[in-house]
Amino acid sequence: MLYFFIFIFGLCVGSFLNVLIFRLGSDGGENVIGGHAERGQSPAKLGGRSHCPKCGHQLAWQDLVPVLSFVLLKGRCRYCQKAISWQYPIVELATGLLFLILSLSDSDRIFSLSDSITLIYFLFIASCLIVIFVSDLKYFIIPDEIIIAGVIGTFLYKLLSAFDFASLRSGNNLYPELVEGLKLLLPFALSAVIASAFFLVIVLITRGRGMGLGDAKLAFLMGLVLGWPKILPALLLAFVSGALVGLILILAGKAKMKSEIPFGTFLAANTFLIMLLGEKILIRYINLII
Ligand SMILES: [Zn+2]
Repeated sequence: MLYFFIFIFGLCVGSFLNVLIFRLGSDGGENVIGGHAERGQSPAKLGGRSHCPKCGHQLAWQDLVPVLSFVLLKGRCRYCQKAISWQYPIVELATGLLFLILSLSDSDRIFSLSDSITLIYFLFIASCLIVIFVSDLKYFIIPDEIIIAGVIGTFLYKLLSAFDFASLRSGNNLYPELVEGLKLLLPFALSAVIASAFFLVIVLITRGRGMGLGDAKLAFLMGLVLGWPKILPALLLAFVSGALVGLILILAGKAKMKSEIPFGTFLAANTFLIMLLGEKILIRYINLII
């Protein structure tokens, strides 16, 4: 029952992520007003209801039920009959499934307070990664807003994880725990700085043709989330899978050597993979190789 609820919750979050992806990524650089490229309106500024991106008709609640609306409407807008992108149900389903997987991976420990905070944090980071995955794939954009949210969330989570909630309630002096939290944070911050510096060097050498600044910012978030040494296999797998998919697309005639590759998509996917596999399995593999 709990897992069913988490899956449904994931579907709803996925529906919100679709809106975020659209509003943060669409018409990036296309609407040039007064010489400044206007990004998609922020969800907060736009507020209110969702509209069909094709005909602009306001959508009613029965058009917004995750997955179900898409199936019932047979993938077409109720008002203009134009096709609704497959992105919508796919992102909703994927978010639901990823939430389910994350909550199952530590199933017997969900109910203690600190572990439910961990689960919420994992769901939050998974949501950020989903938005980055789709935005880079679709618009070649890694939204700064998502990176900033992810960095702040991770910083707070790592800091909080040093706190003992029992002593928090009894109102003890929190200073030693704050110091402890910052100490715990240090290796994560270091791997964040090193990972993003590595990407900055690549961006400078290739003059932004291979990678963009967005990739360097994403690498910072990856380093902060994964820490050392987990950042290494995540980056390695991203390069390998990116090159592999690029090669397959070139061989299939769907891409050219010069085609832009949405590298953030590969970074995001492999960050999730390593986050899920966690320490134990990783160490087992490293031992196997060595
Ligand atoms: Zn429509």
